[in-house]
Amino acid sequence: MIPEQPDLWFLPLGGTGEIGMNLNLYGHDGAWLMVDCGVTFPKPGRIAADGTVHHRGEPPVQMADPAFIADRRDRLAGLVITHAHEDHVGAVPYLWPLLQCPIYTSRFTAEILRRKLAEFDLLHRVPIIEVETGQSKQIGPFSVQWLALTHSIPDPNALMIRTAAGNIFHSGDWKLDEQPLVGHGYSPKTFTDLAEEGVNAMVCDSTNATVSGHSVSEATLHAGLLQAIRSAEGRVVVTCFGSNIARLHTLASIARETGRYMGLLGRSLINMSGAARAAGLWDSADQLINPGHLGYLPRDEVLAVATGSQGEPRTALRRLATGTHPDFELEAGDTVIFSARAIPGNEESIKALVNRLKELGVRVITAEDADLPIHASGHPAQEELELMYKWVKPAIAIPVHGEAEHMETHADIAKATGVPRAMVGRNGDLFMIRPVPGIRRQVVETGRLGWQKEGLVRVE
Ligand SMILES: [Zn+2]
Ligand SMILES: [Zn+2]
Repeated sequence: MIPEQPDLWFLPLGGTGEIGMNLNLYGHDGAWLMVDCGVTFPKPGRIAADGTVHHRGEPPVQMADPAFIADRRDRLAGLVITHAHEDHVGAVPYLWPLLQCPIYTSRFTAEILRRKLAEFDLLHRVPIIEVETGQSKQIGPFSVQWLALTHSIPDPNALMIRTAAGNIFHSGDWKLDEQPLVGHGYSPKTFTDLAEEGVNAMVCDSTNATVSGHSVSEATLHAGLLQAIRSAEGRVVVTCFGSNIARLHTLASIARETGRYMGLLGRSLINMSGAARAAGLWDSADQLINPGHLGYLPRDEVLAVATGSQGEPRTALRRLATGTHPDFELEAGDTVIFSARAIPGNEESIKALVNRLKELGVRVITAEDADLPIHASGHPAQEELELMYKWVKPAIAIPVHGEAEHMETHADIAKATGVPRAMVGRNGDLFMIRPVPGIRRQVVETGRLGWQKEGLVRVE
């Protein structure tokens, strides 16, 4: 199966029909371009009384099987990573040895990627080309332009992929945030300009296609988090996704306003803040203290930010809940704030964690029961999808990054907004965009690989 000069194809191997492990291929003129290479985590199985999750022996880290493209890697022109979330970049250290192609990405994402590669002793083997937002790169027969959009991590990019056969707008993960607080914003003109040029297909995020309205801006969370932290008497621990640097910025300003010292607990938080600093995205006014000092401060001067919002084992918040964290112990009257949503499948382990905290006498505030918003989604709700379709005016809408229900609803929104055609499929389907649009179902065998005992195994 080789795309010819008049062909423009889209072939997802992961992330279409599911949320997680994105791995997309574009085919044209004898070559393939890969966009994103992420991981997913197995659905939790049994939960023990102590909240430990048992995965029935499945590898804890899983990713799309790249066999199709690994078998023809001489035709793989390059890999583009849209942003630094695990479901987009996480599989690179595991799969790059099978691909061996250059990687193109933005500066913050490159910082995160280099840290991952270093752990696998791959840092000096993988060519990483850093691209500025707005810049274009010729990658084989694909001219790829990085476009500014907003999401819940610094430096997210959409892509305009131009070829001699046609153009594709690949949205990546996005929302429309007027005040993202960190990094670049977005401009509607970027997208209305694409419509003038002509977009054959728009491959777009479906995560929140079933959610009405418009996502909440990062900037509006300040009020809700300030209210929750100001009313607390003892120590405050906030748990959130470590990659959300804007959220850390908001918490650091609230620490200043409430006379608390902020410290980070957990490897991923420390890693992400370090990458933000290296990429010039950390506000120098946002001071952090050594977390080892938190235990010596008066309780009402502590603001700890901890990993573990999903109830995962071995994370900082779980250690605090079980009294096994080296830096301090939670006591009755302390407050834990969940500035995060539950990823579907994690509800039970989060509930077990919350119960454990309550048994200690800790006050728990979740995003669901707070009076004001203390968490914002990074994905477009229905009004944002409508706006983007009105701006980009693609000939074909291709929903991805969602389960079947999200993608079907997304397709209806696109059509209601005036897009002539929507194509809904799943991993392994070949979406032919040019010259004649159509889908060939299940032309490529797909599957999952897992990382276990330092090697890749097939997951059934
Ligand atoms: Zn994603
Ligand atoms: Zn993302």
